[in-house]
Amino acid sequence: MKYRSYTVHNFREIPQVREKLTPEQQFDIEVVAQVFPFKTNNYVVEKLINWDNPLEDPIFRLTFPQRGMLLDEDYEIIANLLKQNAPKEVIREKANEIRMKLNPHPAGQKYNVPEIDGKKLHGAQHKYNETILFFPKQGQTCHAYCSFCFRWPQFVGIDELKFAMKEVELLIEYIKAHPEITDLLFTGGDPLIMKTRLLRQYIEPILEAKIPHLKTIRIGSKALAFWPYRFTTEDDAEDLIKLFTEITEAGYHLAYMAHFNHYQELETEEVKEAVDRILSTGAVIRTQSPILRHINDSAEVWATMWKKQVQMNMVPYYMFMARDTGAQHYFGVPLVRAWEIFRKAYNSVSGIARTVKGPSMSATPGKVRMLGVAELNGEKVMVLDFLQGRNPDWVGKPFFAKYNPEAMWLDELEPYGSDQFFYEDELNKMLKLEEVHT
Ligand SMILES: *Cc1c(COP(=O)(O)O)cnc(C)c1O
Ligand code: SF4
Repeated sequence: MKYRSYTVHNFREIPQVREKLTPEQQFDIEVVAQVFPFKTNNYVVEKLINWDNPLEDPIFRLTFPQRGMLLDEDYEIIANLLKQNAPKEVIREKANEIRMKLNPHPAGQKYNVPEIDGKKLHGAQHKYNETILFFPKQGQTCHAYCSFCFRWPQFVGIDELKFAMKEVELLIEYIKAHPEITDLLFTGGDPLIMKTRLLRQYIEPILEAKIPHLKTIRIGSKALAFWPYRFTTEDDAEDLIKLFTEITEAGYHLAYMAHFNHYQELETEEVKEAVDRILSTGAVIRTQSPILRHINDSAEVWATMWKKQVQMNMVPYYMFMARDTGAQHYFGVPLVRAWEIFRKAYNSVSGIARTVKGPSMSATPGKVRMLGVAELNGEKVMVLDFLQGRNPDWVGKPFFAKYNPEAMWLDELEPYGSDQFFYEDELNKMLKLEEVHT
């Protein structure tokens, strides 16, 4: 299949769109796509979406903008501008205003920028001791866009903080100076949007540097779900597989962090073949996804997905909470409900699939897991713990929050039995210190 992308400018060329969506539904897509990024492709359209009832289809909802992603008042503003044929700049300005209300930079992402010899690595993020994230400059887009994506600001071009960096040398220097780092995670966007030739320019110097404490190379990607041909029939697929093999043969653990949101993404022949090819290099595929209303908010969907992943020799890894940005009001699932779904799904799979952790919030202090609801002194409380913390000592200590079945994020929770959570003083000090340095 030859890659063909569809955006707001040409999605009406998709035959299924013209056949299965009314003009009003098509207009809704056009309206919402003024604010949120919209890109899909022919694989997603032809092989993943079930067009019998597109508005109910999880993959349609995952890649096509949904009416409910905009609040009614914002929808009306944009819809009226479009109907009046308002100039592009006017629409863009309004869209930007709406975007700015949607918390475009959640979880203190402006912190954690690593620095070496006074030079900042703007394309990297080092928050937890063991793992440094690296955002290759040319990997800041994707084969298709997820409607819930928290990276949406960088796709619509309002992000001055594009965490992108050209010089891999600085990255190597930094890792060398930090013996606590064992993992380097390439992320994006999607780093596998890059041609293999380009990806090599990042990976080869790292292999050549032979940093003794660096053990794991992770690649975070949605290419298996959105464009499996990246590993099979694309002209540089062979070379990509070869590059993966070079990484494992150099003695690294190669972890392909695969993003799958629904088991429907695991059902094509194409994805099976791609998974097998990746595994043939000695890489391990670990899987993760946020839990999303309208897409995968049912225990049955998760249990089916985890079982299928295990069957395909992948390892379930994380269930995330939807970030507190963008259309969280549409995709967000409350913590208590997410935990119920997690527990029910976790209950119904074998221990082999219980490698998964969650539901977890990637919040300013760390990755905070909703452990469950318990009863203390005859009262319901929420129990949480850190899976990762800015201070590693925070990890694995259960702590309590007042029961709040509506809360979707850490900042909506109140501590139980004290005026603040145990980590808060220390976190505030840490953030102040970073501010002084930035
Ligand atoms: C999730 C995450 C990591 C990786 O955490 P693991 O638990 O090791 O998978 C690293 N850095 C940041 C900023 C993260 O959000
Ligand atoms: S593939 Fe990942 S980075 Fe790309 S749009 Fe989806 S969630 Fe965002």
